[in-house]
Amino acid sequence: MKTKKILLNENQIPRCWYNIAADMPNLPQPLINPQTSKELTKEQMSMLFAKELVEQEFSRERWIEIPDVVRDLYKQYRPTPLVRAYDLERALDTPAKIFFKNESVSPVGSHKLNSALAQAYYNKMEGITKLTTETGAGQWGSAMSIACQYFGLDLNVFMVRQSFEQKPYRKVVIGSYGGKVHASPSNLTQYGRKLLEEDPLNRGSLSIAISEAVEMAVTEKNTRYTLGSVLNHVLLHQTIIGLEAEMQMEIAGYFPDKVIACFGGGSNFSGISFPFLRHRILNGKEVKFIAAEPEACPKLTKGELRYDYGDSAGMTPLIPMYTLGNDFKPEQIHAAGLRYHGGGQLVSQLKKDGFIDSLAISQDETFAAGLLFAKTEGIIPAPESTHAIAATIREALKAKESGKSEVLLFNLSGHGLLDMSAYESYLPGASLLK
Ligand SMILES: *Cc1c(COP(=O)(O)O)cnc(C)c1O
Repeated sequence: MKTKKILLNENQIPRCWYNIAADMPNLPQPLINPQTSKELTKEQMSMLFAKELVEQEFSRERWIEIPDVVRDLYKQYRPTPLVRAYDLERALDTPAKIFFKNESVSPVGSHKLNSALAQAYYNKMEGITKLTTETGAGQWGSAMSIACQYFGLDLNVFMVRQSFEQKPYRKVVIGSYGGKVHASPSNLTQYGRKLLEEDPLNRGSLSIAISEAVEMAVTEKNTRYTLGSVLNHVLLHQTIIGLEAEMQMEIAGYFPDKVIACFGGGSNFSGISFPFLRHRILNGKEVKFIAAEPEACPKLTKGELRYDYGDSAGMTPLIPMYTLGNDFKPEQIHAAGLRYHGGGQLVSQLKKDGFIDSLAISQDETFAAGLLFAKTEGIIPAPESTHAIAATIREALKAKESGKSEVLLFNLSGHGLLDMSAYESYLPGASLLK
């Protein structure tokens, strides 16, 4: 009998997150405070984020303990399954062995909860009563909303107006868990009001929504800001994905040749990659890492490595990262979670040092890949996750040509059950295998 799913039990949930900063051959350049043009200090960063998260942001410790309360909440959906995609392999007629880590089983349908729970916890412990954040597709807003509910925190979510109108059900998810959602740009902040004065029909963007959430956090009492990707502490929390996958691949009896994930700001990519990358850095293991981006927003593939702001108004610290520019306006692709302009400190340095490959894929190819995955493995993937699937299919077809029985591991970052309008526009006649 074949083994389809490799499952762990609750006691096997890792006790620590993995901090790759401890093992990187070259550390990234520091964050810069744009007001002083000097290195950002921990004290300055603590005006925006919980102190413990700031400690994690600057930490060089290899293992950082997961608080028991967070680990207990992880038990609602973790450990997540590692799945062998036999039916996809058969459809592609490939000798490659394809595995995927299924993060879509979380209550909100994506990996985002892994960091939301940790961020809400540390803020609560420090006596913060109100959090702000932004959301594009709505996944991060949903995750923060349930996480804040668990810890009795107030939440204000600035949702990109475009998504607010196109994805009404995400808004309802956020509201059902208790969070307040505002279409961004909004009338609630100075920056939002300024933009609406200039253009009442402004559709918003992730970097505008970040500016609004940051402004509210610094101007209101006992309030902090939270971010769903890009920053070191967010990537740290997501390593739980790769640490579990590492144990599960060992049970399956394989080590991946290639680890693949979609790339928005880098959190799910880093989450599945960093624990495996540690074996390449420390033991010279031959394993490749592929970040799959949309053609409409190819920050790693076509961006330039330099200091840039994380938001549109220039309120965040300057981050050394591959960027398309903080005023970059990507096309309105369905994978709203991949429309961010920059790639963060850690991933950018690792890319520069040759540890990470990236590729940009067209929306047509990603949806065709998503539909093939749905028809074979039964799960309708999030539009973001279809990028990882498309990249994996490309590798599996290459393996078929060369006759190599490669082991491919990709992260299924989320399901697409709230993205039916996106699928609707792609359904007619889409197929990869003609
Ligand atoms: C947010 C999101 C992404 C992109 O964000 P990363 O930080 O790059 O992981 C990808 N997939 C899903 C399902 C998401 O919700």
